[in-house]
Parts: sequence; structure tokens; C-alpha cells
Amino acid sequence: TNGHTEPRGELFTVDSPNVTYTENEILSKYTYRTTSVTRNAAGKYIATPRETLYDFRVDRKVPKVGMMLVGLGGNNGTTVTAGVIANRRGLVWETREGPRVANYYGSVIMGSTMKLGADAETNKDINIPFHDILPMVHPNDLVVGGWDISSMNLADAMDRAAVLEPTLKALVKKEMAAMVPLPSIYYPDFIAANQEDRADNVLLGSKACMEHVEKIRKDIRDFKSQHGLDKVIVQWTANTERYANIIPGVNDTADNLLRSIEQGHEEISPSTVFAVACILDKVPFINGSPQNTFVPGAVELAERHGAFIGGDDFKSGQTKMKSALVDFLINAGIKLTSIASYNHLGNNDGKNLSSHRQFRSKEISKSNVVDDMVEANSVLYKKGEHPDHTVVIKYMPAVGDNKRALDEYYAEIFMGGHQTISIFNVCEDSLLASPLILDLVLVTEMMTRIQWRARPAAAAGPTSQDDGDFKGFHSVLSILSYMLKAPLTPPGTPVINALAKQRAALTNIFRACVGLEPESDMTLEHKLF
Ligand code: NAD
Repeated sequence: TNGHTEPRGELFTVDSPNVTYTENEILSKYTYRTTSVTRNAAGKYIATPRETLYDFRVDRKVPKVGMMLVGLGGNNGTTVTAGVIANRRGLVWETREGPRVANYYGSVIMGSTMKLGADAETNKDINIPFHDILPMVHPNDLVVGGWDISSMNLADAMDRAAVLEPTLKALVKKEMAAMVPLPSIYYPDFIAANQEDRADNVLLGSKACMEHVEKIRKDIRDFKSQHGLDKVIVQWTANTERYANIIPGVNDTADNLLRSIEQGHEEISPSTVFAVACILDKVPFINGSPQNTFVPGAVELAERHGAFIGGDDFKSGQTKMKSALVDFLINAGIKLTSIASYNHLGNNDGKNLSSHRQFRSKEISKSNVVDDMVEANSVLYKKGEHPDHTVVIKYMPAVGDNKRALDEYYAEIFMGGHQTISIFNVCEDSLLASPLILDLVLVTEMMTRIQWRARPAAAAGPTSQDDGDFKGFHSVLSILSYMLKAPLTPPGTPVINALAKQRAALTNIFRACVGLEPESDMTLEHKLF
């Protein structure tokens, strides 16, 4: 076989009456434990432990997957594509610091581990690569394609991006040169005017229309059949667009959105047209930029079709630091009072963001990232109280893709004292974003193979294998939050920005699918003897 149709070599099996393996599936009976809180007449909290029983069903067959990127010819698009090729071929290249070997550093799925358990004899932790907790797709096996408004082949586009070492570029040049992005949708009003000179690969028409939706759907179907793929996942890593106005009757409901596309309404952005095309075919669509691609009508449409969507805006550098550091400060009981964030960058993303309306999208997505942590601490913050927070982004061509992020965190400590933390973070933007693009695809793909059903408490016994009422997770994949700055969540559900909580959700949901308890750091076995 080609290795895609058989279950991969899994690293472990779970020995439990709650977990059943069949040739194609892993079935787990999982007890989800929560605490329900009420108040009594005296205003005192009553906390009651609750148990909910779920069945999870995981499809073990690792499919052959296509990753189609909107913005394939950009810095992220070319960097992630070259990175996959280099890893697939196990490339080694010379740099002035010696040879470098292809890797997936910065991918939580490929680069991090989690504790499986403790060795039965020595009690020492056994840690496994995150990638091995479930039968996930390997990024080396992804087939990459996509669209760009620039017609440049990927070898030239990789040169234009000025991200990778020349020695590495030389090794992947031939394969990259053979890849040319599909023509895309270009509505100039949505991205900065300074992008116009690269738009030489565009479909006819500068307003939303059903022809565009149908063309994108056809592109995906063609790509799927050309490469013999089981599934395609589409991701927006094109320029940041301006926000779309939410207008009642235009994009507020699924039906209105579809009608507005038909009628060519000018408030429908290219990214929303891509999202709609994907949703109609149940192709998962992830938005890596900050704009509001998922207008309410798009979310409703996704729910209606049971299609997965995720967003918004890759969380690569400054914001990732912020969602870790603020989590630490506030959970340490330190009262953060202000955050000042300055960035300058010199890549094409920075050029696009030098236009006000596009910057505004980024400013919004970078601004709300501490809300949940502040709101959760009623000891430090009164209701409605907030640290001051400002975000500045400047375009500085000379620094290229080496983005600079300068952050000052100012906090109040014991007895009126102060703590000031200044961070100067120089990060190669596309090298941080590329592994996130892969993580988003791998996790999203895995979610298409996980199903669940609630089971009544009385129904003990082995998990039945009939299809029963198994269904997928909610259309809006908030499990992707770790990789995203402004996580989209199912309507009416809370947004979690704290990095540690986001990682715990991802880890523990995947563990539950194979019948393992959440990662607990109690280590009682080392404390009670
Ligand atoms: P880039 O400008 O190098 O690449 C974007 C590409 O999209 C360009 O090649 C452009 O021609 C193309 N494009 C623009 N409009 C398009 C359309 N309608 N259809 C198809 N292609 C289109 O930018 P980048 O550095 O690769 O970043 C891409 C996006 O990711 C930006 O919106 C950026 O804000 C976002 N992002 C990047 C990072 C990071 O760390 N690199 C982090 C968070 C978010």
C-alpha cells in the first residue's frame, strides 16, 4: 500500500475496559468531570462535582491530505512550502554557522511532547511526541497548492520573500519553480493600495459573485482529483484585509450572505468568498489573518453545512509571548497595569499593514488578548477594570522579515511597588508562522476524524460500535486557539487566550479520545510515601 490507507504504526495502545480498538477505529468511553456551582439563599457558593459520559470515536486511517493556501506566493506560503519539501527530503544545507538539518521546530504537534504516564517500574515519566497521541497526518505527506494574486512561481517568490538561506533555496529551487499559484480573487478595496503592483494573477471581476465561489470550489475539486487526495484543508495566509462592515440584511445571516454574493455587494471580502466556497463543500477553512472573514452569515452557513472553520490570525511572536506572560503575571497575583507593544517589520505584510484600514484589523486582533485573564481575577481587578494596552505597528523595509517587537509590561506589586518588564523580541516572522500553518492543518484534519456522542449514565458495558448518534465537534474549531491570536469560538461561548489553558485543552481533548485522563501535574506518587 502507499502507507496512507493502513493505520500508521501507533506508538502505544491503551489497556482499559473503556477503550476498544478495531481495525479502523479507536473507541473510548470517557468520563468528563466538571464542577457545577450554585448560590444558596445566604449567597454562599455550593460546588457540586458532575460527571458526563461521552463516547469518542477516532478514525485510525490516516488520509492523504492536500493543504491549499490562499496567499501561496507570500512569505508564509513560500516558507512553509519549502520547509515541507526540505523535511520530506531530509535536506541538509550549509550556513555560515555550519550545516543545518530540516526540522519542524516551532510546531507544537511536531516539536513538543506530552506525558503518556509513568514507567511501571521506575516511576519515571514517559513522554511521547505530541504527534503520536492520535493517528495524525505527517506534514511531510501534505500535498501543497493554492492561490495568489501574484503569478510568480514559488522559486522566484521564495527569493522575493528573502527568508530562507540561499544554500537551502538552491536545493528546493527546482520543485518550487514548478509550482505556480492559481489565479485568485482580487477586490482592491480590501487590501492596501500598495499591493496593486503584484496583482497580475486575478480572476475577472472586482466584486463578490457566485462565479468566484464556483471557481474556487472547482479549483479545490480539481486539486483533489489531480493528486488523488482524500481531503483538502484551505488556509488564508494572504494579505490582511480591512474589516468588512456588518450590515443587517447583507452579511448577518447565511441566506443574506449568499444573496449578497449573488448580487455583488461590495462589503463581501475575498476571504469571505473563499470561506463560503469551502463551507459549501465541507472543506475546512482556517483564517490566518486578523480580518473578520467569518461575518455572522459565514458562521451560520458553516453550522448549517457542518463544515469546520477556524481563526483568526496566526499567533506567532509578540502575542504568543503576551498570552504566556500575562497568564503568568496575573496567576502569580501580580497586578498588570499596562502593556505597550511596538512592532516594526519590513516584509510585505508590514507594507500592507502600513495602510490604516488594514492596520486597524491587526490592532483589534492584538488588543483583546488579555481580557479573559483579567476578567478571571476579581482580586486584582474590579469589574470592568482593565490594564492600559496599546499596539503600534510600523513598516521599516530594512529589517525585512526579521520583525522587531518591543513590549513593556508595567505592574503593581506588593505594597505599592512596581515591576517593569521590557522585552525586545526579534523574530523571523515567517519561520514562526510556518509551523503554525502546519499545526492548524494537522489538528483540523484530525478533528474531521473524531466523533462523539453523549451516553446516559446507566449505559455501562463496552462501547457499542453501531453508528448510533455519533456526530462531529461544533463547526467553529476553538480547539485551534493555541495557534491563533483572536480565537473564534462557537457563538455565545467564551474565548480563552491564556496560552497554558489553550494547550491544556488541545492536549486533554486528544487524550480523552484515547481514553486517557487529562494531564495532571499532581504527581502524588512522588509526594505521598
Ligand atoms: P505576504 O504579504 O508575504 O503574503 C501574502 C500573499 O497573499 C502575497 O503573496 C499576496 O500576493 C497574496 N494575496 C493578497 N491578496 C490575495 C488574494 N485575495 N488571494 C490570493 N492571494 C492574495 O504576507 P505574509 O508575511 O506571508 O503574511 C500573510 C498573512 O498572515 C498576513 O495577513 C499576516 O498579517 C498574517 N500573519 C502573519 C504572521 C507571521 O508571523 N508571519 C502572524 C500572524 C498573521
